[in-house]
Amino acid sequence: MSYINENFLELQESYLFSTVAKKVNEYSAKNPDKKIIKLGIGDVTKPIVPEVIKAMHKAVDEMGTKEGFRGYGPEQGYEFLRKAIVENDYKDLGIEIDEIFVSDGAKCDCGNIVDIFDENNKVAITDPVYPVYLDTNVMSGRSGKYKKELDMYKNIVYIPVTTENNFIPELPKEKVDMIYLCFPNNPTGTTLTKQQLKIWVDYAIKNKSIILFDSAYEAFITEDNVPHSIYEIEGAKKVAIEFRSFSKTAGFTGIRCAYTVVPKELKLYTRSGEEVSANKLWNRRQCTKFNGVPYITQKAAEAIYTEEGKKQIKENIKYYLENAKIIKQGLEKAGFTVYGGVNSPYIWLKVPDGLTSWQFFDKLLEEVNVVGTPGSGFGPHGEGYFRLTAFGTKENTEEAVKRIIDL
Ligand SMILES: *Cc1c(COP(=O)(O)O)cnc(C)c1O
Repeated sequence: MSYINENFLELQESYLFSTVAKKVNEYSAKNPDKKIIKLGIGDVTKPIVPEVIKAMHKAVDEMGTKEGFRGYGPEQGYEFLRKAIVENDYKDLGIEIDEIFVSDGAKCDCGNIVDIFDENNKVAITDPVYPVYLDTNVMSGRSGKYKKELDMYKNIVYIPVTTENNFIPELPKEKVDMIYLCFPNNPTGTTLTKQQLKIWVDYAIKNKSIILFDSAYEAFITEDNVPHSIYEIEGAKKVAIEFRSFSKTAGFTGIRCAYTVVPKELKLYTRSGEEVSANKLWNRRQCTKFNGVPYITQKAAEAIYTEEGKKQIKENIKYYLENAKIIKQGLEKAGFTVYGGVNSPYIWLKVPDGLTSWQFFDKLLEEVNVVGTPGSGFGPHGEGYFRLTAFGTKENTEEAVKRIIDL
């Protein structure tokens, strides 16, 4: 008989996006004449920039020549891309780092990283949260039982981020070993300043904990005191793993390329207290289970770092940020309480009149034909909030905001 990993039985079905789709389909079947605007989109919509396409074409042609053909590449990524990352994403911030692992996605890396950690580590997540951090810890046995009445797992430490704390997570009262932080945040669109992030780095140093820092939205940062990398904080190399992705930065959600930084200074511990290099463990894990990102894809990613490439991707980000501003300013004028949208493509609004997230979803859909994402789908402390995204077209965004104001 073959037994299953019973941790999987603790996973909760996520009905969020399927329920959204179902409600939208039902409504449009009944009201075929209504034009529905979707501001729930969690994916980029603008096409890949010309500089990247040019590099990909060239790489494809190379692969068809005797001299240019490449088979398996290095599991950690080609030197040309790792070097471009080091120079542009870190050296320019004054950070000395070269421990880069190129991958096919930050989602996979955030999910796979749990491989190198003990099952008994105490895990902390912010709430609401990007569900990958939670579910991958459920699968690998770190969550304990699900408690339905609370919509929480027994062994997970939930750190609320709400209006009450201005979306600044407070240190947990009990000691935790693994801490997931994502800033600029999905879904709330909020950020931490360097001083606020330093509190977490100091906590991790003091408690020998580790921070898993997801900065997938780094490219959307517009304000000065918001760190682009956790390594801008002193001491972070000892305690933080950083995940970055070209998905939102350069529209690579379909091309698939990302990277993870695991500093050599970062030590983990055996039960008997011996130090082990996290970099070594992650390298071993990748070399065993991963065979690298396609050459063509890595050439595409390299092109983002050329002068022309940088300019072109900035234009797209500017476009999304402009949409974010339209949503934020429009809703504020209409009297909504709104968060995010300044260093992020996400706008997180407080649902008015004591409605639940889903009640507000229905109201927006039925009365003004605008679709967003109910905050409660991202965790219990998301209840009473609602997420809108800036990934639509400018015309649709303006129209949607006008409709919400008229609500
Ligand atoms: C979109 C997103 C990512 C990127 O994932 P990829 O697998 O690189 O596409 C990572 N983290 C968060 C929070 C995201 O929203």
